[in-house]
Amino acid sequence: MGAVADGALSAQGKVIGWIPTFMKTEILHPGLTEVHEVESMHIRKHGMMTNSDALIALPGGPGTIEELMEAITWRRLKLIGVPIFIINLDGYYNPLLELFENMRKACFIVEDMTDLQINTKLPLRRNRPGTKAAEWCHWPEETSENMDSLYHIQQYIQQSIRRNPSDIDFILQAPDQQDEGVWKYEHLRQFCLELNDLTVLLQKECLPETCSQMTATEQWIFLCAAHKNPKECPAIDYTRHTLDGAASLLNSNKYFPSRISIKETSIAKLGSVCRRIYRIFSHAYYHHRTLYDEFEDRTHLCRRFTVFALRYGLIPKDNLIVPINGVNQDVTTIMQQQTSPVKSVPVQSIKDNDSPPSPVIPSTAAIESDA
Ligand SMILES: [Zn+2]
Ligand SMILES: [Zn+2]
Repeated sequence: MGAVADGALSAQGKVIGWIPTFMKTEILHPGLTEVHEVESMHIRKHGMMTNSDALIALPGGPGTIEELMEAITWRRLKLIGVPIFIINLDGYYNPLLELFENMRKACFIVEDMTDLQINTKLPLRRNRPGTKAAEWCHWPEETSENMDSLYHIQQYIQQSIRRNPSDIDFILQAPDQQDEGVWKYEHLRQFCLELNDLTVLLQKECLPETCSQMTATEQWIFLCAAHKNPKECPAIDYTRHTLDGAASLLNSNKYFPSRISIKETSIAKLGSVCRRIYRIFSHAYYHHRTLYDEFEDRTHLCRRFTVFALRYGLIPKDNLIVPINGVNQDVTTIMQQQTSPVKSVPVQSIKDNDSPPSPVIPSTAAIESDA
């Protein structure tokens, strides 16, 4: 307050103070143009609010919040009509803006808070209900250092995808000094999120009657690990169960309590999530090719996933059986190897497929599951 008064006075502005008597001796600025000494805090606020052309909240403590809330309330009750500015310096008020959003979601405020002028370096990245397609995610790009949210890596990744989904190198390029565990974890969350879109498309033609097992090429039947005893689920159920399982693992408080650092032991879980969700791509590619192509042309998701899995060694190259031009073109060779008889192994349920794929018998399917 003192600095603002100094600034205004030094620019030949007028500074008018409202002060309750009990505070007068402590903090009254000596250079004020005009001073109103009043009996109480309530009269002070009333005087300030009804004599102002605009109200500005800089970062401050409980008193600031109290006055800001009162001003907002008065404005909403139409007792005052002046604009209210919240100066959101370095995101200081972000938790409060989140709280407004929660209030709106819980229907404590029915209108949005657009009558507030929130001056912020960091726009609130929110798609509010009723957002038009053209306005979807319509906020300025930020560098990752300038994103100060708890979810800034997720926001950064999503921003890179929106900029150009086909620029895989850019999307997978971690910012300087980015923790690798968090980077892998956030990308994996994003893959799961986007795989839901593929699943919605698959629902149209991947029916329990037509795809009664989760298969990719003829050689593999995948057992669904979402059940106490892994079992053969129809492909579409397998897909849903696997994405649900991945989401609950990645959101689990036990394994991933923080999005700032990931425990070494939990990082090991990422590989198994990768392998399971990859089967959705391979099923779509080998059984629903038109749909896969349409989705892939638009999203480049399988390409991004393949490069990601290879870069971080999350899936052995030989297991990446969907050919991606320029990434695993030699997949045709792999497929040929897989279809030529190599050696007989008994058909068995493989508990965990951490080991590279064993050669499979062409005539009988190998059954694979992982817990
Ligand atoms: Zn299917
Ligand atoms: Zn299942």
